[in-house]
Amino acid sequence: MRAMLLDAPGRPLRPADIPIPSPGPGQVLVKVRACAVCRTDLHVVDGELEQPKLPLVPGHEIVGEVVAAGAGVDTFRAGERIGIPWLGHTCGVCPYCRSGHENLCDAPGFTGYTIDGGYAEYTVADAAYCFPLPERYDDIAAAPLLCAGLIGYRSLRMASDARRLGIYGFGAAAHIIAQVARHQGREIFAFTRPGDAAAQAFAAGLGAVWAGDSTAAPPVPLDAAILFAPVGGLVPAALAAVRKGGVVVCGGIHMSDIPSFPYRLLWEERVVRSVANLTRQDAIEFLALAGEVPIRIEVTPYPLAAANEALADLREGRLQGAAVLVP
Ligand SMILES: [Zn+2]
Ligand SMILES: [Zn+2]
Repeated sequence: MRAMLLDAPGRPLRPADIPIPSPGPGQVLVKVRACAVCRTDLHVVDGELEQPKLPLVPGHEIVGEVVAAGAGVDTFRAGERIGIPWLGHTCGVCPYCRSGHENLCDAPGFTGYTIDGGYAEYTVADAAYCFPLPERYDDIAAAPLLCAGLIGYRSLRMASDARRLGIYGFGAAAHIIAQVARHQGREIFAFTRPGDAAAQAFAAGLGAVWAGDSTAAPPVPLDAAILFAPVGGLVPAALAAVRKGGVVVCGGIHMSDIPSFPYRLLWEERVVRSVANLTRQDAIEFLALAGEVPIRIEVTPYPLAAANEALADLREGRLQGAAVLVP
C-alpha cells in the first residue's frame, strides 16, 4: 500500500510502498477513505512531541471502511464505515483508567504517534477505540470530527455553562465547536492572528457575535475562553478577557512558553487548565451530538501524496477549516 512515512522528526514525509498491515486479535483492518490533518501532526513531524514510533505513519482523524476483523471482534462488520481517533489504546488498570479518566492513562497508545495512523491506504486499529460515524457527513467532512471536533468538544465541556465564550485561534477545531456552542445558545467571540481579516470573516460567517485580533480586548468580559492557538502569550491575554471566576481552557497538546504575568490576572478565582486527549465517552457523546446538530464542516482535500503540502499550509495558516488527505 501507499503510505506517507515520517523517518525522523524535522524531515518531510516520504512516500513509500509498505505491506498492508494485518489485524491482530481485537483489531480491525480499515481501508482509509479520508484522514484529516491535525495541528498535533505538525507537532509530531516537527519534533515538538517526543519519541514518536519511527518510522511512523501519522494521522489520527481517520474515516475508513472495515475490510477485515481480527479474532474476537464482534462490534464491526466488513463494509461498515468507522472513525479512528487519537486515543488508540489504554491500559485499563492504572488509577486513571479505573476512575473514568482514561484520557490520562499511564500507558496509552496514540494513533499516528505511538501507533501507525491514517496517512496511508490502509491501517489497523483496536476495535474498542473505533466509532460509527453520523450518516449526515460524507467521508471527507466526517474526518475532522475525529480530533478537531472531539478535542474541541472536550474543551467546550471544560468551559461548563459559559454563555459568552472566547475562542482563540479560529482553525479546524474552532470552526466546528463554535457551531455546536451556538446551537447550545452561547455567544462566540473569535480571536484570530492580528490582521487576519479572512479568518475573522470566516468566524463571523459561522455566527460569531464578535471577531477580532487576539491582541484586542473583547467588547464585554467573557465567561470562559478556549485557546486552540499554540501560543503561550495568549494565556495572559485570555485571563484578562474573562470575568471573575472565568475559565481559560488550553485545548492543544503543545504550546509555546507562557510568559510570566501579574497575579491580578489570575486573582478572583480565574482558572487556567488544559485538556488532554479524549475518553471514549467523549467520542460517544460528541458523535451523537454531531448527528443532531447540522455542522457545516469546511475542508480542503489533498491527495495522500500531497501530505507535506497540507502540513505546510496548516503551519503557515493558509487554510480555512481543515485539511483532509484522500488516498
Ligand atoms: Zn491506564
Ligand atoms: Zn488531533
